[in-house]
Amino acid sequence: MSLDAVFAVRSVGATGKRKTLDLLEAGAKEWGLALSPQELEDFQLYYEQLLIWNEKINLTSITGREEVQVKHFLDSLSCLQALDPLSPGARCIDIGAGAGFPGLPLKIVRPLMRLTLLEATGKKARFLEHVVRELELSHVEVLTGRAEDLGSRPDYRELFDVALARAVADLSVLAEYALPLVKVGGIFVAQKGRDVQGEVDAAGRALELLGGRLLEIRPVWLPGVETARHLVVAQKVSPTPAEYPRRPGIPAKRPLSDL
Ligand code: SAM
Repeated sequence: MSLDAVFAVRSVGATGKRKTLDLLEAGAKEWGLALSPQELEDFQLYYEQLLIWNEKINLTSITGREEVQVKHFLDSLSCLQALDPLSPGARCIDIGAGAGFPGLPLKIVRPLMRLTLLEATGKKARFLEHVVRELELSHVEVLTGRAEDLGSRPDYRELFDVALARAVADLSVLAEYALPLVKVGGIFVAQKGRDVQGEVDAAGRALELLGGRLLEIRPVWLPGVETARHLVVAQKVSPTPAEYPRRPGIPAKRPLSDL
């Protein structure tokens, strides 16, 4: 079934509540990704746990079955457009993972990746640990903490092939969170919304100072969403100077773009 047809079914809504994840399945298929029954089951379980935990802690305002499929699951999977081919065993970190986006959907479809989910809020990190257990995902580490601290730790500094972040901070701030964690030759992917060019221009100096170089700004279209979202992709081309990241809170308070 084409995506348009799927949407037509949705808008009729004759059957009331639907239990399938056909928007996710069809959207992924359009991107060349055939989700297996097991993967769809994992997404279903993840969705159910998201709803249950969202009653107790504030994880997301997006809870409708259709919206979650598109705005959380497919939006997360859109990162593959910048990542594939992702080498098996690649080390990835999702900075400010919140309820697990984009890291967990990517892990479901790329099970060989080694994933670190970094989240500053303890309650959200507990949710992430719970989902990792429920889905029996291996090689996933959940860390409660701040990117500024992790980037200064010798055991994590310049460890990752890929750093990902969605909806965490302005790009120049995010670059200071992410690039110290990425190895030279690795990449940093920031998921951004519609108006991205100004933010990218402002972050140029920060990227350069931190050892990064802008590779591309890739538009991404989600089914049923009129405006494009964007993947901002930067490569780590030289080591990050030792003075970065600055102390927790300082990158956001005094972004490198302002200095
Ligand atoms: N990435 C998720 C998503 O797109 O649904 C969560 C987005 S939420 C708006 C931002 C998350 O980043 C919050 O859960 C917050 O606790 C976390 N965060 C913000 N600054 C952080 C930092 N410096 N280090 C680690 N996590 C951070």
